[in-house]
Amino acid sequence: MNLVLMGLPGAGKGTQAERIVEEYHIPHISTGDMFRAAIKGGTDLGLKAKSFMDKGELVPDEVTIGIVRERLGKNDCDNGFLLDGFPRTVAQAEALETILEELSKSIDYVINIEVDQDILMERLTGRRICKNCGATYHLIFNPPANEGVCDKCGGELYQREDDNEKTVANRLEVNVKQSKPLLDFYNQKGYLRNVDGQQDISLVFNDIKELLGGLGE
Ligand SMILES: [Zn+2]
Repeated sequence: MNLVLMGLPGAGKGTQAERIVEEYHIPHISTGDMFRAAIKGGTDLGLKAKSFMDKGELVPDEVTIGIVRERLGKNDCDNGFLLDGFPRTVAQAEALETILEELSKSIDYVINIEVDQDILMERLTGRRICKNCGATYHLIFNPPANEGVCDKCGGELYQREDDNEKTVANRLEVNVKQSKPLLDFYNQKGYLRNVDGQQDISLVFNDIKELLGGLGE
């Protein structure tokens, strides 16, 4: 089964990716891992990617796409793969179509984990850190016994700048804008399947399994 996983930050993509690859024995191909492997392997494309990353620049599409092509051609993708973090743009999605065609493969589903933005805001702004010992809490998932106070040492809890409402709202907005055309593209292709990400983690996974059940392994 050839899958692309999508979802906004905080939608629970990482957790579902772990469960999918464990259940279906397909490789989890995230952009970061793919770059690291190409760089470590010292391939031409890996070295090219590294030269951009070292300068703090974005890796150009042609290099990224080349790395994806190499990765998807490996044997461990014979029975499928789970792409995560690629494609990010319609241009990349079109390139992916070409790559898969060359490999006589095609995408089965693009799984999009849907969560309302106000819920994502709650999830993404809830982290609190102890000023004294560095212990981390989350107002929803792992709240301290007493508001604003560390359970372990009694220290004061604070919110990192990265987690504040304005920063998170901006990050979400950028991601929404970026993913919209991609979702439209995959919807038109007939690949897109939306999964309700506002349920319990295991219920989200049940929905994904139900969807994938029809594909076999
Ligand atoms: Zn503490």
